[in-house]
Amino acid sequence: MKAGEKMNTPHETAAGVAITSRSTAHHTATYQSGPPQSGTPQRDPHQSATHRVLILGAGYAGMAAAIQLGARVGRREDVQVTLVNAQERFTERLRLHMTATGQQLAELSIPALLEGTGVRFMRGWVTSVDADARTVRVDDDQVLHYDTLVYGLGSVADTAAVPGVEEHAYTLNSAQDAEVLADRLAQLGSGTAVIGGSGLTGIEAAAEIAERHPELKVVLLGRQEPGAAMHPKAGAYLRAALDRLGVRVRTGVEVVKVLPDAVELAGGESVPADAVLWTSGTRVSPLAAAAGLTVDAHGRIVTDAALRSVSHPDVYAVGDAAAIRQGYGVMHGTCQGGMPTGVHAAVSIARALKGRQPKPFRFGYYHTPVSLGRHEAVVQFTHPDDSPRRLYLTGRLAARYKETVSASPWPTYGRMKKMPASGAIWPRGGRFTRIREAR
Ligand SMILES: Cc1cc2nc3c(=O)[nH]c(=O)nc-3n(C[C@H](O)[C@H](O)[C@H](O)COP(=O)(O)OP(=O)(O)OC[C@H]3O[C@@H](n4cnc5c(N)ncnc54)[C@H](O)[C@@H]3O)c2cc1C
Repeated sequence: MKAGEKMNTPHETAAGVAITSRSTAHHTATYQSGPPQSGTPQRDPHQSATHRVLILGAGYAGMAAAIQLGARVGRREDVQVTLVNAQERFTERLRLHMTATGQQLAELSIPALLEGTGVRFMRGWVTSVDADARTVRVDDDQVLHYDTLVYGLGSVADTAAVPGVEEHAYTLNSAQDAEVLADRLAQLGSGTAVIGGSGLTGIEAAAEIAERHPELKVVLLGRQEPGAAMHPKAGAYLRAALDRLGVRVRTGVEVVKVLPDAVELAGGESVPADAVLWTSGTRVSPLAAAAGLTVDAHGRIVTDAALRSVSHPDVYAVGDAAAIRQGYGVMHGTCQGGMPTGVHAAVSIARALKGRQPKPFRFGYYHTPVSLGRHEAVVQFTHPDDSPRRLYLTGRLAARYKETVSASPWPTYGRMKKMPASGAIWPRGGRFTRIREAR
């Protein structure tokens, strides 16, 4: 069965029953009313006294939500928080270009970090969500019921937009994908690695591969100049650093096809490739749209100001999977913005459980740190709408800054277990994030 498909005859497995054991009456209950409109979690009359919060995805955003919720409500007898994720090991997506070049990352165990928080962990693959019945299917055959859902299934590289990518290109979608690429690169000898996409992920990957594999020819292909969104001097530094590493940059090109041994450009030119890494564009899981949740053109869940789904307010959407509007527009997927969304959703749920209204979410960007191998980086400081300021860092200082940023989420979660408020600090963005009401 494929992700997003639904089965007609759910059966409760041991895990599902364990999770819903104090609310068996709910299994036979029919959904009574339309989605609740207030911020207070609603329940149907057949439910038990336990309020079940289910968090899907333990990425940067989902982990932040789980730890915050654990710290705020984990000891309450009447609240049960469960986190579902594909792996027990936390995936440091910010560092997957390191994994792709054979560098070992720390073993970060999600169940170990959750110890003492009261949050249950369930390893499994979410295969469907029924937003009206308030159920989630895991590994096709386990059914979990929820009263409040936090949807944080993230995003992956868009491998569907260009023919041949799905079949022939590597991605940095997961640690496993990055390891497969690492194996391939290690075997290439003096071959050619082509990186499709000159955005930040493509730049970081190209630089890392060139630094770790000086024997390879590394080609970065994309529409835009690397660092185009930065201050011109920061962009120039970035481009010079790629040159120093020997990355051959070709911009203004459109990849139209990926073949087993080449990529084809618009206009018919063929670029030989022994390995193609695809980093261009992102897409989200089809599960939200299949669940009947209101999604945008990219499949992301459209939220209200408090991060609740506009169609199903008992669903909070966080991280890359959410379309969150701010004064400057809809947020784009980053870790810097994703973690605050998870924290905010958790704080809102904790407030709602006390009968209080959630507050609007406000977030302003503050930096774009880009690694260029292990010894160099560019950190572009930004206005809250992500446009570049005049201020930027380069070189080793920037590399240290970037490393501090990449290493910070896990210790931040650890601190939040004891001091939840410590995770609720981020720039709110002032006038940039204020949404003006239509008159
Ligand atoms: C190489 C690379 C470098 C990056 N560098 C930066 C950077 O420097 N700064 C920055 O801000 N952002 C960076 N990003 C973007 C950043 O990683 C994402 O914005 C961030 O990971 C989004 O967090 P998330 O929690 O929404 O999703 P994710 O971190 O993607 O987590 C989603 C989780 O859900 C799980 N999952 C997905 N589907 C299912 C399912 N059906 N069932 C069960 N589990 C599922 C996944 O396994 C994963 O654990 C980078 C991305 C990449 C790929």
